[in-house]
Amino acid sequence: MNTEKKPFIVIGGGIGGLATALGIAETKQYVKVLEQAPEFGEIGAGIQLAANATNVLQRLGVMDKINEIAVFPKRLVLMDAFSGKELSALDLGDVYKERYGAPYVVLHRSDLHRVLAEACESSPYIELVTNQTIIETVENEGQVTVTSANGDQHIGTAVIGADGLWSNARKLFVEDQPVCSQYVAYRGALPMEEVTSHGDLDDVYMWIGPNLHLVQYPVRRGELYNQVVVFKSSQYTEENEKTDQWGTPEEMDRVFAGTCELVQNAISFIQRQRRWPMYDRLPINNWTKGRITLTGDAAHPMLQYLAQGACQALEDAAYLTDMLHKNGNNVEQAFLEYQEERIPRTANVQTSARMWGEIIHNTTDAGILLRDTILLNRTDKDFKFVDDFHGYNKTFVKA
Ligand SMILES: Cc1cc2nc3c(=O)[nH]c(=O)nc-3n(C[C@H](O)[C@H](O)[C@H](O)COP(=O)(O)OP(=O)(O)OC[C@H]3O[C@@H](n4cnc5c(N)ncnc54)[C@H](O)[C@@H]3O)c2cc1C
Repeated sequence: MNTEKKPFIVIGGGIGGLATALGIAETKQYVKVLEQAPEFGEIGAGIQLAANATNVLQRLGVMDKINEIAVFPKRLVLMDAFSGKELSALDLGDVYKERYGAPYVVLHRSDLHRVLAEACESSPYIELVTNQTIIETVENEGQVTVTSANGDQHIGTAVIGADGLWSNARKLFVEDQPVCSQYVAYRGALPMEEVTSHGDLDDVYMWIGPNLHLVQYPVRRGELYNQVVVFKSSQYTEENEKTDQWGTPEEMDRVFAGTCELVQNAISFIQRQRRWPMYDRLPINNWTKGRITLTGDAAHPMLQYLAQGACQALEDAAYLTDMLHKNGNNVEQAFLEYQEERIPRTANVQTSARMWGEIIHNTTDAGILLRDTILLNRTDKDFKFVDDFHGYNKTFVKA
């Protein structure tokens, strides 16, 4: 790395941080990614990426690698978790790709992360550094200094906080806390041979019911099958929030007891060692100060019900890159223009994710009847429910 020119500093090497680094490198500026973990990586579960994300991956030049390891599902299917009946579907085939200019893919998180990390490693503009838990960020006289818990200091021309839901960088802008949804997730990918009974293994299935859902889809060229079980815990209290006393595997078995056979079968395969309490935060109206800004979950953490968290982080990366192209050396202006576009966009997705959660988890007979009537009366080529999210087509200012 050229040490004369101060690099951009990205705090956090998750999907958002690495994509941001690739974007900055596209502008031929140096960037250092500081990750708290001893190595770069992701957890062992799947991720869905809609066209608004794969459009960005195409632009970042990594889509060929993604194509080698992803699965291209034909349909996204909504099922009733109790009756086992199909409620609705979305065609994810050619018609989807033509409409949005990029495919819908499902893949293993570690595969996506590895593709991004390898692209970073092969860039002459990017340096990846581990064991850096950044605890302080200070802007001073046209540069920004970040300090790691181990005492290391890094000086950069600007800083992008990509440090996720529990972001330290976000504290520079707001004193809020993650909001616990009282839902937990259990998730993991198992070898395809172990999947005993199911419908079409190529598709994405979302089984929904009162206070619960299950998502299933293949990953890693179809070699693994990813499952995410989610439910609301009646054992949650503010006092026990930080413990593992709520949303236990035993409660999961009780909550799913009346579901149809295919769902029960899926529950029997889910890994029970680790649970993920689900959090989001409310949108904020500023995440930029001078030469410091935020991206991804640090800026706009959302519930995962629309499968858009990482997609939004990728959109952030593309838009930030374009603003850097547009504004040349004026980083402060680039950051301001970046947030001007991205705050309303991501706030809409955050609040829509909450609302979609209320719809799929509805507990009232009238609500369920209304929802199912709407769902059963749409066709699989009716894209109006997802156009806003998957069809994001801001004209990017190309280099
Ligand atoms: C159950 C579940 C399912 C989901 N499914 C989907 C889906 O299908 N599609 C989708 O688009 N999104 C999905 N999401 C959301 C998605 O996972 C996140 O939005 C996305 O991973 C955010 O990426 P990020 O890089 O912003 O943050 P993170 O992935 O949280 O990465 C933050 C990085 O920063 C590091 N870090 C943290 N603090 C510090 C520090 N102080 N100093 C240095 N490094 C630090 C962390 O170690 C980590 O590597 C899902 C989320 C959940 C919980």
